[in-house]
Amino acid sequence: MIFNIKKLIRSISIEIKTIIGIILFTILLVGLERYQLSQNIIEQFIESKRSKNRLLIDTITPIIGLNISLGLDNSNKEYLNYIARQNLDLEYIELLDSDNKLSYSYGEKYEDKHHSEKFGINFCNKSIVDSITGETLGNVTLHFSDKDYQILLSKNRETTLKIFFITFILLSIFVILIKKEFKHLKKLSENVLAYNPKLNNFTLTPSQRLDEVGVIHNAIISMVGKIATHTKILDEINLSLEDKIKKRTKELEEANKKLQALSVTDELTQLSNRRYFEEYFQKSWELAKRNNIEISIIMCDIDYFKRINDTYGHLAGDFILENIAQILKKSLKRNTDFIARYGGEEFVIVMYDTNIDLAKELCIKIQNSIKNADSFIFQGIVLEAVTMSFGISSTIPNINKNSKELIENADLALYKAKKNGRDCIIVF
Ligand code: GH3
Ligand code: MG
Ligand code: MG
Repeated sequence: MIFNIKKLIRSISIEIKTIIGIILFTILLVGLERYQLSQNIIEQFIESKRSKNRLLIDTITPIIGLNISLGLDNSNKEYLNYIARQNLDLEYIELLDSDNKLSYSYGEKYEDKHHSEKFGINFCNKSIVDSITGETLGNVTLHFSDKDYQILLSKNRETTLKIFFITFILLSIFVILIKKEFKHLKKLSENVLAYNPKLNNFTLTPSQRLDEVGVIHNAIISMVGKIATHTKILDEINLSLEDKIKKRTKELEEANKKLQALSVTDELTQLSNRRYFEEYFQKSWELAKRNNIEISIIMCDIDYFKRINDTYGHLAGDFILENIAQILKKSLKRNTDFIARYGGEEFVIVMYDTNIDLAKELCIKIQNSIKNADSFIFQGIVLEAVTMSFGISSTIPNINKNSKELIENADLALYKAKKNGRDCIIVF
């Protein structure tokens, strides 16, 4: 039963509830106003009664006085009986003579004088005065019934109290109900504020309510559900994006490394290229200059290489270049020794902290390595043995020396070696 009432109340929209509340409040105000109005009317009624009673006593006293003066006591009795019949609210009439003796009475006398005078309308008393002599002839007292307005007053009070009580109770119930609605909304908003899509911590379940609160509640739950789904999708996208970025970054790094290596490496011989030689040599030169250390340069060139190309073809020439490059590279021992392809079939070796004798030693070593190497066989053809010419120059760099000069000197020495018949080592 209680559950059904609760369900019914929850199915009424807040709009209707508010309207009902306003109506009840209006009824309460109207009830109070009605009470005030009724009281005013009753007061008017009492006032008119009071005037009528005063008028009655003012009207009868001269007639009674005249009858007493004329000694018509019986006429007075008849007259007062007639008055009693005509005024149904008259409950008691008392006529006293000049000696205060009762000469006429009608009905039962009120003993409770206080009650009779409560409204000032029940009890009327007036002396009978001779209009000519001014002598007091007696006294007349009238008691009127106040039943009419007593009933009116109590009925008015009763009705007003009923209206007031009922509307007050109903209004209180509606105020409590509306407050309850806001309690639910407060709880809902607290949950929404505490909601974190990452934690998915929204615990409220769908509501069965049919009113606006139920609609808002369910709309929020559906929205929270959508947010959770989208957050999950976004997280997944983010994760795969992170993976992709990591993969791409790695690929890029590798490509960069390759590119860098390519930019400093000679493709055919896999030795450093001339560009990198310039860079390396300049650095070595500066370092040697600062530390006052000797630096040596060897320029070496394959003898009669054109003839090899012409005899065996360009590819065979490439093959020899690759093999000679390997022999040259293997001949270097110190990690500060550096070799690069200077151009064509010409190579350059930079030797840091090395004097001319040690440089020459390396040249001899290379010469022997080439001589002792197995014959180069290209596409089944045994190629003729090659020799190399070497030009060496050494110096301790200082502020007055030019690094280019060291290379030029090695070149000059190489030129001399060629002139001297090739396959030889010339020190500048
Ligand atoms: P020298 O003893 O005076 O040095 O005579 P050379 O024939 O070796 O010198 P020259 O300067 O007359 O000829 C060099 C040849 O080297 C010409 C060129 O075609 C060849 N050459 C340069 N670079 C390459 C290359 O990468 N591959 C091949 N196969 N040949 C090259
Ligand atoms: Mg040559
Ligand atoms: Mg050459």
